[in-house]
Amino acid sequence: MNVVLKVEDLTVCYGDRFKRAITAVNSVTFEISAGETVGILGESGCGKTSLASALLGLLPRGGFVQHGAASFRGTNLLALGERALQKIRGSGISLIHQDPSLALNPVRRVGEQIAEILIAHRGMRSKQARKESKSILAHVGFTADCDIDKAFPHQLSGGQKQRVVIAQAIACQPALLIADEPITALDAVVQVEIIELLRTLQKQLNLALILITHTPAILFPIAHRVLVMYAGRIIEQGPAHEVLGAPLHPYTRELLKCGLDVLSRESAVRPLASIPGEPPNLAALPMGCAFAPRCSDRMEVCEARAPAESHPEKSRDVWCFKYE
Ligand code: SF4
Repeated sequence: MNVVLKVEDLTVCYGDRFKRAITAVNSVTFEISAGETVGILGESGCGKTSLASALLGLLPRGGFVQHGAASFRGTNLLALGERALQKIRGSGISLIHQDPSLALNPVRRVGEQIAEILIAHRGMRSKQARKESKSILAHVGFTADCDIDKAFPHQLSGGQKQRVVIAQAIACQPALLIADEPITALDAVVQVEIIELLRTLQKQLNLALILITHTPAILFPIAHRVLVMYAGRIIEQGPAHEVLGAPLHPYTRELLKCGLDVLSRESAVRPLASIPGEPPNLAALPMGCAFAPRCSDRMEVCEARAPAESHPEKSRDVWCFKYE
């Protein structure tokens, strides 16, 4: 296996480095290889975006990596300065944001915006970059006769904007693509098209793809492995067909019930399912299992201490006392 990214014991905090710090990502370890799609699944606030931001040195003010390592093709990203990281962003690792409108410059034609990336990262001359940007736009599904490269972002639909953002992301042939909730702002039909596009590009370009989402249904057609996060920790991981087809952790089971319910026809005429209770306050986590206050399988031990890693099946890791 050609490992592209290896993350070890990564812990990300917000707040004061020396006094009160809130842990948003807690001892996360995983790796991803070329040609592989890893889905990171969890509710908002579970640490998914902080994890991606930490890898790219894009944590917001107050965020910092407390410890851990993230090796991208042998280079520890967390030890790099801003200039070295800037070189890797775009050319080695690309990030697709949730809202394509925020990722595009509203006053520049989309072809120019892709050409700028090619000039900056691949050293192309202007004429060559403009020609190449047309070919990249064709690669993400725009036909040559629609002159999409001359359009401004406000002239495009949400799905077209997201295709342009994906074109920007693959422009420098990155080894790793991180898509952070890439379909959340789109309608259902376009969501399916964008996921299909990502799947096609991932295969054609042999990309390592990290797909961050709170919607399990979108992982079914695309993910090889799934990591489920809760309160900053991975609580279950394994092959996608096993985690999504036969979830073991009570949180994954609840998440799948809700996530699949969203896509069912019947859900349009009855209230949507939701997980009882609220996601935990990271500043005041319970002493034992963080999911205990919402878990219908809770036992006495769950409130006394946190569960350790268990391996109920050869390829699965689960953090729950039911499997210890
Ligand atoms: S450790 Fe206990 S509270 Fe936590 S998910 Fe498992 S059964 Fe539920």
